[in-house]
Amino acid sequence: MFLKSLEIRGFKSFLDKTELDFKQGITAVVGPNGSGKSNVSDAVRWVLGEQSVKTLRGGKMEDVIFAGTQFRKPVGLAQVSLTLDNTDGALPIEYSEVTVSRRIFRSGESEYLINNRQCRLKDITNLFMDTGIGKEGYSLIGQGKIDAILNGRPEERRSLLEEAAGIVKYKTRKEEAEKKLSNTNQNLVRIDDIISTYE
Ligand code: ATP
Repeated sequence: MFLKSLEIRGFKSFLDKTELDFKQGITAVVGPNGSGKSNVSDAVRWVLGEQSVKTLRGGKMEDVIFAGTQFRKPVGLAQVSLTLDNTDGALPIEYSEVTVSRRIFRSGESEYLINNRQCRLKDITNLFMDTGIGKEGYSLIGQGKIDAILNGRPEERRSLLEEAAGIVKYKTRKEEAEKKLSNTNQNLVRIDDIISTYE
């Protein structure tokens, strides 16, 4: 699996449709200060489902929408699409190419898509779980992240290793099953109570 392309439109400083094609190997993004290099990595984080406006260096989620300049008017929609080659089947989906997209309107409404079909944030999270690519994945190492990992609590470091080992999906499923079991137990207790009032 590898990153093939990134399409950005109306996101932060990228008003016009901007398409970045990545070849296999190393790609470096260079440019003067303030030209938008970090906005490219913000776009990747955002399309993978980042919910923290602080991580995206903003005050509120709408701040990711192009806010206008002296010469260009603000827009009402930001959209980012990330395309990955999945010929090795690393992503659990039956497509050799996978495009995930996210849109946000100034009204606050937002949408996620996988291969142009609307989906939930959870579907995006599940798709990338245990691949290292998701918003919490180790493939996105921001400034200061290495220090944070080295100085982090043992549990935080452990979660990074768990993602690399590919066991996060099993832990998540176990937690979901335990929650369902606990809800079912509570329902049983309530049913027992109701039955006892009739006896
Ligand atoms: P440096 O090398 O200094 O780290 P950089 O190339 O990484 O800079 P970025 O931080 O990606 O630059 O981009 C900053 C630019 O993006 C600023 O000019 C800022 O005005 C612009 N910008 C950020 N959000 C928006 C927005 N919503 N609308 C328009 N422009 C924006």
